[in-house]
Amino acid sequence: MRKSTPPYPLRKSLATLAARGVRAEPPGHELGRPSSEPIYQTAVFDFPDIAASEPALDHGEGYAYARYGRPNETSLASSVAALEGAEAAVATSSGTAAVLCAVLVATRPGDLVLCQRDAYGGTRLLLERELTQFGRKLELVDAYEPAKVADGLSRGARFVLVETLSNPLLREVDVAALAWHCRSYTAQLCVDNTFATPVLRRPLSLGADLVLHSATKFLGGHHDCVVGVLAGPAPAIAEARGLVTRLGLNAPAFDAWLAARGMRTLHLRIERAEQNARTLAEKLRAHPHVRSVHYPSWGAVLTFELEDRAAAERLVRACPQIHYAPSLGGVETTLAHPATSSHRSLAPAERAALGIGDGLLRLSLGIEDADDLWSELARGLTKS
Ligand code: PLP
Repeated sequence: MRKSTPPYPLRKSLATLAARGVRAEPPGHELGRPSSEPIYQTAVFDFPDIAASEPALDHGEGYAYARYGRPNETSLASSVAALEGAEAAVATSSGTAAVLCAVLVATRPGDLVLCQRDAYGGTRLLLERELTQFGRKLELVDAYEPAKVADGLSRGARFVLVETLSNPLLREVDVAALAWHCRSYTAQLCVDNTFATPVLRRPLSLGADLVLHSATKFLGGHHDCVVGVLAGPAPAIAEARGLVTRLGLNAPAFDAWLAARGMRTLHLRIERAEQNARTLAEKLRAHPHVRSVHYPSWGAVLTFELEDRAAAERLVRACPQIHYAPSLGGVETTLAHPATSSHRSLAPAERAALGIGDGLLRLSLGIEDADDLWSELARGLTKS
C-alpha cells in the first residue's frame, strides 16, 4: 500500500464542501436531473447491450450490480473524502465494517496489529475475536504514550488503530506523533475519527494513512442509519472497495442516502453541539453531585461521574426528555451508560482499570437550547 503524503488540503472551505455534498452522477439524466439525489433502491442496473455492461463489470466504471456499488454509496464516500481531504473513500455497511476493511487492506496474515486499549468495545471485539481468525496478531497499547506504540512498531507491528477521541473518557491521542513513529517503521496509522468528525480534526492532514467513521453517529446525525466510511489513498481504497464487494459489506442505499443528506448540515450541527458541550461541561463541573467531568474542551461528547450506578440510574429516570440510548451523534442529546453499553463486553476489572466506573454517564450533545438541557439535567441531578 502506498504511504500517504500529508497534508491533504481541502479544495474549498469545509462549510461549502459539507453543504453541497459530492454527488455521484450516473448517466441517463438527459430528461432533467433531479435536484435532490434519488435513492437508487435497485439491486441491478441494466444496459442497452452486452458490450455496454462490460466496463461496469470489469473496472467499476458506472454501476452494474448493487454489491459492486450504487450511486448513493459513491456520494456518501465522496462527500467524506472531500471533508477529510482524502484521495478516495468507500462506504461500508457499518463503522465496524470500515474497521474490518481497514485492517484487512493494510495487513497480511501473520502481521501484528496494535489497537488502542480503550478503543470502542465493538472494535476490540472485532479485532480480538475475528481478526485473529484471519491470521492477524493483536496487541492492545496505551496509545497516549507514543513511546509505547513505538515499542510495538519496533517489534514489527504493521498497523496501528486509534480513535481521535477515546470513548467514553474523551482522551485525545497525539495523531501527529503516532504518524511520525508509524512512518519511521513504514507501518500504517488508521484513525477512527467518529467522535471528532472532519469539522474538528482531519487526521490525514496530521499524517495518518487511513481515516474511518461510524457514519451512524455525527456524520449521519439523526440516529436513523447504520453505515460506515473508510477514506485514504486511492490504491488502498480501491483494495477496500474490492473487499466490500467480495465480503458483501455494502452500505444499503437508503442508509447511505440518509448519511449523505445528514452530512450537508454537519458543520452547523457540530458547531452548536460543541457549544452545548462546553456550556454543560462547565455547569456539571460546578455541581455538587458530580464527582468529575471528562471533557477535553472541544468536541460534542462529554462524560461525568456520579457516585455509583444507582445514582446514574436515578438521573436517567429523572430526565426522560433526554433520551437514554446506547449511541451518539444525533441532533438530540442522548445519555448512555458506558459500563453497560459500549464497554459491556469488557470484564469489570478491565473496565475499572480503564476508568469506566458504574457511575459514569456519557452525554452526546445535540443542537437543542443549552438552557433547556441544563434545566432538565439539573432537575435530574437534584433527584440523583
Ligand atoms: N467507532 C466508534 C468510535 C464507535 O463509537 C462505534 C459505534 O459506536 C463504531 C466505531 C462502530 O460503528 P457501527 O456501530 O456503525 O458499526
